Amino acid sequence: MRVLLVEDDELLGSGICDALERTRYTVEWVRDGAQALEALRGSGVDLAVLDLGLPRMDGMEVLRRAREAGVTTPVLVLSARDTTLQRIGGLDAGADDYLTKPFDLDELMARIRVLERRTRGAVVNVIRHGSIEVDTSAMTVSVDGRNVELQRREYMVLRKLLENIGHVLSRQQLVDNIYGWDSELESNALDVHIHNLRRKLHPGLIRTVRGVGYVIDPLPAAAWSDR
Ligand code: CA
Repeated sequence: MRVLLVEDDELLGSGICDALERTRYTVEWVRDGAQALEALRGSGVDLAVLDLGLPRMDGMEVLRRAREAGVTTPVLVLSARDTTLQRIGGLDAGADDYLTKPFDLDELMARIRVLERRTRGAVVNVIRHGSIEVDTSAMTVSVDGRNVELQRREYMVLRKLLENIGHVLSRQQLVDNIYGWDSELESNALDVHIHNLRRKLHPGLIRTVRGVGYVIDPLPAAAWSDR
């Protein structure tokens, strides 16, 4: 999942950025309001964490303009403006959640998970596919109840494919998801991740669509799930 982080405070921003990346999100960090609006209007942001006191354009203005432009991306507002009135103002302007500074990083992460879940319309943080189970809050993967160790990027590829069951994802879509914006396609890194996922989970899990990309087919394709 791609998170847009808008924070002009270097120390706080890098703390949040680290926490998000540790949680296996792909992060785009911008430091002023104009860039934030531009990124929100573009495609590919799944969720935004938005500070209000920003250079070039106030966060509230960013939010208002983004909503006016039809941007529906969930936005969690971070702010030191902590009066009830300001909080209500933020929610009215189109924020999905509001966290007052100073805050606990763990709480921020928990609230992001809630927004993420809401976006996907899922009630629980578990994606099941045959014998494979992915717990997206613990970031663990198991096959037949047995834990499987995945590298960060393998996990991201698996999750992206599982969230798009039956839809072929292009190589570029997968690369964007795991390496972030503007990343060049690394020659064979993606192939290596796919190879490892097949090896660790099941050889038939991910289907190659030649010249297009990859897909996890919907069940029942019980051939592989009941091994
Ligand atoms: Ca600020």
